[in-house]
Amino acid sequence: MIFRLAIMDRMPFDAIIAGAGPAGLSAAATLAERGCSVLVLEQNHEIGSPIRTSGGTFIEEMQKLGIPERLYHPVSRIRFVSPKNEARFEYSIPRLGVLDVRGAFQFLAEKAIGAGAQIRLCTRVTQPIVEDDFVRGVKLQTDELRCRLVIDATGYRSALLKQAGLDPGFQRFGVGSEYDMYAPRCDQDEALLIVGSRFAPSGYGWILPWGRGRVRVGVGVIHPDSRENPDDYLDKLVAESGRLGVDLKGAQPVEHHTGLIPSERFVEKFAGDGILGIGDAVGNASSLVGEGIRWAIYAGRMAGEVAAPALAKSDVSRRALVPFERSWRKKFGTDLSLAHNINQRIARWDDQKWDSRTEFLKLLSPDQFAEAMKTNLRGRWLWKFAATRSRQLAEAAGWL
Ligand SMILES: Cc1cc2nc3c(=O)[nH]c(=O)nc-3n(C[C@H](O)[C@H](O)[C@H](O)COP(=O)(O)OP(=O)(O)OC[C@H]3O[C@@H](n4cnc5c(N)ncnc54)[C@H](O)[C@@H]3O)c2cc1C
Repeated sequence: MIFRLAIMDRMPFDAIIAGAGPAGLSAAATLAERGCSVLVLEQNHEIGSPIRTSGGTFIEEMQKLGIPERLYHPVSRIRFVSPKNEARFEYSIPRLGVLDVRGAFQFLAEKAIGAGAQIRLCTRVTQPIVEDDFVRGVKLQTDELRCRLVIDATGYRSALLKQAGLDPGFQRFGVGSEYDMYAPRCDQDEALLIVGSRFAPSGYGWILPWGRGRVRVGVGVIHPDSRENPDDYLDKLVAESGRLGVDLKGAQPVEHHTGLIPSERFVEKFAGDGILGIGDAVGNASSLVGEGIRWAIYAGRMAGEVAAPALAKSDVSRRALVPFERSWRKKFGTDLSLAHNINQRIARWDDQKWDSRTEFLKLLSPDQFAEAMKTNLRGRWLWKFAATRSRQLAEAAGWL
């Protein structure tokens, strides 16, 4: 009741954000820090729950984004395992980390609240209010709220953008199924990526430790490239983990997670009149390995930086909001498009191809492998690699 009164008191909001994932929460913090009144509406009863992601990330990116060290677990070895081959990368200074997902998402919520944003849980946005082709607010199940700008941060469903006629929605998805296990004997320093038809047809499997004996074991499959159900492969991966040199004896699941991520290049339009899309809702993630958390945070921040001055000038037309999509394209467009091309290509590889391409991966140094995984696909590392290994250039072209 008190909470409802607080909301009523400040209506109409400058911005209403549908979805309290990393994108929505980061946009909320950025807008609130710039003096905008912001309301975030989340359909679930808890931020970051149920978990829909594995939390694999890059430590330097988390540091840049100000995510505290206690919220990620560093991993010093990555093994890339194909049916009959394996590339191993050792890091004296770890570069890959695995997030405490619920903790990290709630940390982003704390930042947004600290900056002045309001958050309302258990509230599903059903559709945008559209008047004269301009979005003026959102409809809830039993209510409606008006605002000056609506931000769609609802994830892969892009619920509001679709209804506002901005985007038809995605057709291709990574579909994942994962156990979060207590696995007291599992090596907490090592992460595995597993490819090939035995465990992950048209996708990959993962084993990601995240501290205190906990490990996320999952399988992701690209639909519709494959119609396989990742659940059917997950139990097999757990049961046969010993073949991969992973000790899951005595391990039991504590949580089961499922989720979808768009496996497409980001959409053409992020902005319409009175509405912006961010994060998975517009395909901001890298489809190379389905990594989207830090991209969602960047998108939320960049969108907030564009939307705040637009709100201050009382112009939230597409023309005023379009700099967000322009700067995204300029900064990340080429790498993300390359990532998507690679993803489409590798989704069709058979076991033999994976084994031969894994041989190529062995030529990369641990840092080069990390840069490639980070979707830094045009970085200086690649040219250095090409200069010293010209014979393998054709092989690299095969990936790209
Ligand atoms: C199986 C799997 C594994 C993944 N692994 C990784 C990984 O290891 N590393 C990584 O970086 N990324 C990973 N990702 C991708 C990453 O999770 C997403 O890219 C990222 O979470 C996108 O953030 P977002 O804020 O755009 O959307 P989301 O995190 O999906 O958040 C959207 C929010 O909106 C809410 N919502 C939806 N509809 C409504 C509505 N109508 N009204 C109100 N609220 C609504 C949802 O409940 C949710 O809280 C994975 C994804 C999947 C599916």
